[in-house]
Amino acid sequence: MPIIEAENLSKVYPVAIKEPGLQGTINHFFHRTYRSVDAVKQVSFQIESGEVVGFLGANGAGKTTTLKMLTGLIHPSSGKVQVAGYTPFGRKTAFLQKITLVMGQKQQLIWDLPALDSLKINAAIYGISDREYKMRVGELTEMLSLQDKLKQPVRKLSLGERMKAEFLAALLHRPQVLFLDEPTLGLDVNAQVGVRDFLRDYNSKYGATILLTSHYMADITALCDRVLVIHQGQLVYDGGLKKLIDNFAPCREVKIELAHPIPEAKLLPYGEIKALDGQSVRFLVERDELTRSVAKMLAELEVVDLTVTDPPVEEIIGRVFNAGGVS
Ligand code: ATP
Repeated sequence: MPIIEAENLSKVYPVAIKEPGLQGTINHFFHRTYRSVDAVKQVSFQIESGEVVGFLGANGAGKTTTLKMLTGLIHPSSGKVQVAGYTPFGRKTAFLQKITLVMGQKQQLIWDLPALDSLKINAAIYGISDREYKMRVGELTEMLSLQDKLKQPVRKLSLGERMKAEFLAALLHRPQVLFLDEPTLGLDVNAQVGVRDFLRDYNSKYGATILLTSHYMADITALCDRVLVIHQGQLVYDGGLKKLIDNFAPCREVKIELAHPIPEAKLLPYGEIKALDGQSVRFLVERDELTRSVAKMLAELEVVDLTVTDPPVEEIIGRVFNAGGVS
């Protein structure tokens, strides 16, 4: 039986409209008018226990709204949702024990206190015994390589260490289902890799189910075999990551740093130029053409630095949407 089930899940936000100026404020006060924002439209999917699923979409596509409905923070306008056998917005204690929500741009740890103090509060809230608390903190500290960091005020931790400490706090009650909204946001590459490695280990050790949003394609490729793609509130793809990339991003992104700026016209033979800023150029190059094109760049241009990566998530999603989605 799936651990997460959404059926025709929709959310319409009423948004108050206010004209600018004093007259607008007075009108707003006495005769408030609203418009509707269809943030999520008829979204249906099922996730089995232990799966790690990527949830992709451009800014404003409806990812956070969906996660909020799945975790019971907001009521759906219509449709059904079940997580770990519960209807989330009932917010039963037993349900809250089974899930966690980590948002990269929000923090639960108290800024001026050592993380250990916040962890003790969490342990009390979740009714975790002293013995169990010590064991879990020890285990997670090791997995997250956070030794010695939990005793210093949170504000003195680096961003990456703070995010790891947030994970420790969010996982202390051993939830079965992890909802992660941009957990690597703003982290440097090393810290991103640390978080990814931890999530992979955590999933294999505890069999936890993970639904993850990220703007970093590397997070998704490292962790998820399956992805859901949402565009303007609608699910446009649910399937294998490999198929998505093969069908919609049969290209790689090549970034080069040149010794001197070169006119755009001279760069056209090397690939589709996505950005040109002085000496920095970002190309999209067909996968089949990659080796030949990179060799040509190195032979013919004065290249001082070159990196090859997957194109950004937004570009892939744009292609999926332009193609009208895939089944
Ligand atoms: P991002 O990647 O930028 O975080 P997202 O995919 O998480 O985007 P949501 O935050 O779910 O997108 O927003 C979906 C749509 O709903 C957007 O158009 C947004 O402006 C709107 N929206 C979100 N929250 C509210 C709210 N509380 N009231 C009104 N509209 C909202």
